Amino acid sequence: MATYSELANRPVLTQPVYEAGRPIEVVAREFGLDPGSVIKLASNENPLGPSPLGLAAGRKALEQAHLYPDGGYTLLREKLAAKWRLQPTNFVIGNGSNEVMILLAQSFLRPGEEVVFGSQAFVVYKLATMLFGATPVEVPMPGFRHDLAAMRAAVTSRTRIVFLASPNNPTGGTDRPEDILALASSLPEDVIFCLDEAYAEYLDETADLRPMMAAGRKVVVTRTFSKAYGLAGLRVGYLMGSEEVCGLINRVRQPFNVNLPALAAAEAALDDADFLSRSRRANAEGIAQLSAGLNSLGFEFIPGHANFLAARVPRAEEIFTALQRVGVIVRPLKGYGMVGWLRLTVGNQAQNARLLAELAKFR
Ligand SMILES: *Cc1c(COP(=O)(O)O)cnc(C)c1O
Repeated sequence: MATYSELANRPVLTQPVYEAGRPIEVVAREFGLDPGSVIKLASNENPLGPSPLGLAAGRKALEQAHLYPDGGYTLLREKLAAKWRLQPTNFVIGNGSNEVMILLAQSFLRPGEEVVFGSQAFVVYKLATMLFGATPVEVPMPGFRHDLAAMRAAVTSRTRIVFLASPNNPTGGTDRPEDILALASSLPEDVIFCLDEAYAEYLDETADLRPMMAAGRKVVVTRTFSKAYGLAGLRVGYLMGSEEVCGLINRVRQPFNVNLPALAAAEAALDDADFLSRSRRANAEGIAQLSAGLNSLGFEFIPGHANFLAARVPRAEEIFTALQRVGVIVRPLKGYGMVGWLRLTVGNQAQNARLLAELAKFR
């Protein structure tokens, strides 16, 4: 009799496991703490909470929980089309932007093909690549910054997708819009360029790939409601691309991949301009607070404008555990090959101050 492993699809056996930020309840139990006293600065969640308009709409939608959601996501796609001056057919809605990346990979990757991304890029690119038996091509990132020229040079006739996040997670570095556009334009016409803009709402300026899309170039953009809109727990994200690519990917997704309250919340959150600007402002202040604090502690960090900073601290693994003991959860970056680094999510002012005070004990 064969084991399950012998029966499994080959890529499943080598699929890496995603390591998420440690949940508050789990850390509280492990260290004997009151969950109310634990702060999580480990998953780039929004310290302001969810968008109030999104929350209200999600709550209301729960009363209709006996109904399936609109599997065509008509209203959300219409709103996104208006926001981006595109058509509803230019969007794929996913269970987080994580899912749309997996769907992109599922739609286009097969064994023997290559996917190019940075060595400290968001880990989901590697997961999506390996899940379908394709080959990850990880391009070194000197100083943990993307080397766009090296990424272009890594493209071969086997390359199917190039992934780039700006700002990148977990490093927090940003690439200039003109450099991103130059990379996208330089790619062979049959390579799909996927720009991951999970943190773009926190930037003043982003690369606009819509003209390239309109010109028939193979570029897609992913966005999420998880960060600046504060809806990480509801899981909604989307992909923007040509009608053809979205039509193909929409065939692959399951009919109701986003649930009813999440859908309602995302639709409403898009109108929450007030929350978005508060998120941006609070984040800019938090980045300034953390940057100043890290500077005065003498800890190196990668300057950035996302809602987190990667910082190099003495004895990172030890600090990661010591911080949990006092109720502060951050993210170690050893798994990304960044030994000695921690990723610190921007919290509210008091949370940032508490994090810095705890870090100061390890100077
Ligand atoms: C958080 C994040 C996402 C968004 O993930 P969701 O699945 O939408 O919650 C995508 N890309 C990067 C780089 C991220 O850090």
